[in-house]
Amino acid sequence: MRGPLRPLYLRRLAQLGILGAVTWLALGHGRRPFEAFCPFGGVEAAWGLIRQGTYSCTTSEMNAAMLIGVAVLALFAGKAFCSWICPVGFFGEMLYKLGRVIPFLRGVMLPLHADRWLRLLRYPFTVLMLVLTYRAGELVLRGYDPFYILFSGFGHGTLGLVSAVAIGVFVLGSVVVPMLWCRFLCPLGAVQDLVARFGLLRLHRSSPACTSCGACDRVCLQRIAVSTPATIASIDCTRCLDCIDACPTGALTVRLGTPWPGGARTAAWKVSRWLVPVPVAAAMVLGLRVSEPLTLPTAEASFYDSADLAMPETWSYTVEGVKCTGTANFFIGRASAFAGVAAIKAYAGTNRVVMTFDRVRISAEALRDSIDAPVRNPRTGEPIRVFRVREMKQGG
Ligand code: SF4
Ligand code: SF4
Repeated sequence: MRGPLRPLYLRRLAQLGILGAVTWLALGHGRRPFEAFCPFGGVEAAWGLIRQGTYSCTTSEMNAAMLIGVAVLALFAGKAFCSWICPVGFFGEMLYKLGRVIPFLRGVMLPLHADRWLRLLRYPFTVLMLVLTYRAGELVLRGYDPFYILFSGFGHGTLGLVSAVAIGVFVLGSVVVPMLWCRFLCPLGAVQDLVARFGLLRLHRSSPACTSCGACDRVCLQRIAVSTPATIASIDCTRCLDCIDACPTGALTVRLGTPWPGGARTAAWKVSRWLVPVPVAAAMVLGLRVSEPLTLPTAEASFYDSADLAMPETWSYTVEGVKCTGTANFFIGRASAFAGVAAIKAYAGTNRVVMTFDRVRISAEALRDSIDAPVRNPRTGEPIRVFRVREMKQGG
């Protein structure tokens, strides 16, 4: 039932805030690239963590931390990440709403049985992306992922025409099919399904108050049959609360239940719908705060024992150009030739390298100049600058 204050306004504010923040990062501001905050990067990083004990490609501790945040959120509020935070979910919503104002598209609707089958596509697609990622050591999803393609502006790792077709299908398809990418293909949605079924905050429908008008069914972009069960137990429910807004009789409420499936779900306590944004905000804070303990070097090497150095000193440099496993290894290969360097740790997620060296043989400033020095292009012989120190400070 609609009041003057609607959770939708808060949800739009959250979506726009996140969209603004991601755009700001994508324009090169901030200390991390925009994709560092994608929770699916945490899943992509898993193989590198298992095999080499470090994050693979451009993934970092922030991806792992955001994945933990999303998993904890799913335990409380299912797939609320999709409707409150994810920019692709926001685009999907807006595109479908746009489609509803175009007269000849208004009545177009995918048959429900086809829709149900297509929803299963996200599982094989996720497995395929992960297998290809783990085999190639590259983030293969980048070429098909609307989030990466759009915010990177068809950047590194996208596939030209293939990515253009993927965006075309996403945009045009989302105008006709509600949440096309999210429901049919999104790997993060598939991963959330593992936990979302336990979500404690669920929608409840009171049969005596319900007039079976179907308004809730019509607004649900997940195409969930809200007007029939007592409790919405679908793993696809994103806790957007649009159905509560649409219900003219107040038959729909949010309830706090147990994680167990079945009857216990309906015997739950009624809570304010305003409780839903609380775990969303908490999960974001958790994701941003837990990254520190998950930090691991992307690549490291040591050449001498620091006990053998006359005056050991450790400095941390923020280096433009150290942004993935390949560039971290290249940096170490190059810096290993610098006089007096005993050990190097490179952190691609924050473009940081920590170097221990002998102060008697080289100064921190001379080391910075060596990092900044151009290298010869192996094909043309032209000098090119690969790395550039943005900041330096003493300590690890
Ligand atoms: S059931 Fe209601 S809260 Fe869940 S996704 Fe559909 S409209 Fe949103
Ligand atoms: S909108 Fe409310 S009254 Fe109408 S079918 Fe849904 S729960 Fe029942």
